[in-house]
Amino acid sequence: MTSHRTQRDRRAFLKASAAALAASAVGVRASAQGPAPRRHVVVVGGGYGGATAAKYLALWGEGAVDVTLVEAAPAFVSCPLSNLVLGGSRQMADITVGYDGLARRGVRVIHDTATGVDADRHRLRLASGPELAYDRLVLSPGIDFLWDRVPGLASDEAKARVLHAWKAGPQTAALRAQLVAMRDGGVFAISIPRAPYRCPPGPYERACQAAWYFKREKPRSKVLILDGNEDVQSKKALFQKAWADEYKGIVEYRPDCVLIDVDVAAMTAKFETSDDVRADVLNVIPPHRAGAIAAQAGVITANDAWCEVDFLTFESVKVPGIHVLGDSIQIAPAMPKSGHMANQHGKTAAAAILASLAGRPVNPAPVLNNTCYSYMTDRDAAHVASVHQYDREKKTLLPVPGAGGLSAAMNPTEGDYGFAWAKSIWADMLT
Ligand SMILES: Cc1cc2nc3c(=O)[nH]c(=O)nc-3n(C[C@H](O)[C@H](O)[C@H](O)COP(=O)(O)OP(=O)(O)OC[C@H]3O[C@@H](n4cnc5c(N)ncnc54)[C@H](O)[C@@H]3O)c2cc1C
Repeated sequence: MTSHRTQRDRRAFLKASAAALAASAVGVRASAQGPAPRRHVVVVGGGYGGATAAKYLALWGEGAVDVTLVEAAPAFVSCPLSNLVLGGSRQMADITVGYDGLARRGVRVIHDTATGVDADRHRLRLASGPELAYDRLVLSPGIDFLWDRVPGLASDEAKARVLHAWKAGPQTAALRAQLVAMRDGGVFAISIPRAPYRCPPGPYERACQAAWYFKREKPRSKVLILDGNEDVQSKKALFQKAWADEYKGIVEYRPDCVLIDVDVAAMTAKFETSDDVRADVLNVIPPHRAGAIAAQAGVITANDAWCEVDFLTFESVKVPGIHVLGDSIQIAPAMPKSGHMANQHGKTAAAAILASLAGRPVNPAPVLNNTCYSYMTDRDAAHVASVHQYDREKKTLLPVPGAGGLSAAMNPTEGDYGFAWAKSIWADMLT
């Protein structure tokens, strides 16, 4: 009798476990009282915005929600500090961090590409086939490039020769290899798109790092900055001083160079008004827009490029239940497209999602901050910082006057701070 009951109990337990497992695959889990809805938040993109959101949803959710992160890449590779890899003072391993820390937090990490969203049915499609059901969807896919603005780079072969290296990863290593292979006396040209673009000071930092390398290894070489804007977009005086003092005769800056095409065979960049430029290594950063999945989800609302959000929750103004973070959003006034800012978006959105799933009011007055270090040599850096507070009347985040600031000069102490910033933000996002 006892053994029959034990067998029946075991069969019932196995049946219930199987049902719970199947249910959890679509974000619903059985409870002791019967099937009770359990909320499932799916995050697409494990970069600065998405990894932060996933971590804090798990941490602050205290087990109340299931969190799934869908990330295409096997490991996180940081854009911040990637210019130092181009200069040769850092290696790819120094800017690469695994996702196991998030898994230890209870985040289910799926390495796959999200290919579509059915917002009515609350389903996310994955390239490998399955669909994920969600209660809330968080998109932090970064940027994609507007290749139609550079017709000469349409083919894969062209893209492999003229690199952007504006998403850290294999392109970073490939551009470093091109710089190493370049002859002494060669020209490295960087084409910058019109703002807004990812990381306003990034291209000028890149020029410094290439120049730092050339000064030591190929002193007859040049770095040509071909800016699609009318002036340097960030830390202007600091960069200009570095170019004049550290890299005199190596770095040349040219404003108003709006790129219209590239002749890959001739390694020549063509511009709206200025003369063609031939280079030995051509680095084209094409104009960008929100990552492709944002377009597939129908959340792009500004200039056919960016996603407008409610700055209290980072929920799309167009599609309820979908939150957008990081570089993909239509920025608030004076808000940079930066990793630090994306990290702040991630925390604000995680808190708001958890509050609204629990039926609590969201924070009505969020305050976000940003610090961005730029390296002018392998060790010397300078920073710009700002604080952004929600304005109830204007319904946007506005910079707080007098908060934040800019370094007086580059220096090695700030270089140390910059490395510490990177280590802490990676730990904040990924462990
Ligand atoms: C050279 C350079 C230097 C920089 N320096 C700094 C700096 O010093 N400080 C700073 O704060 N910022 C810096 N930035 C900017 C910073 O890198 C970005 O602002 C930040 O990465 C934006 O975060 P994100 O989450 O929007 O996108 P990302 O960090 O790019 O993350 C997007 C992630 O989504 C994944 N993904 C995209 N689509 C899909 C999909 N469909 N399915 C699955 N996964 C997908 C991608 O693989 C990627 O991992 C720099 C950028 C560059 C290029």
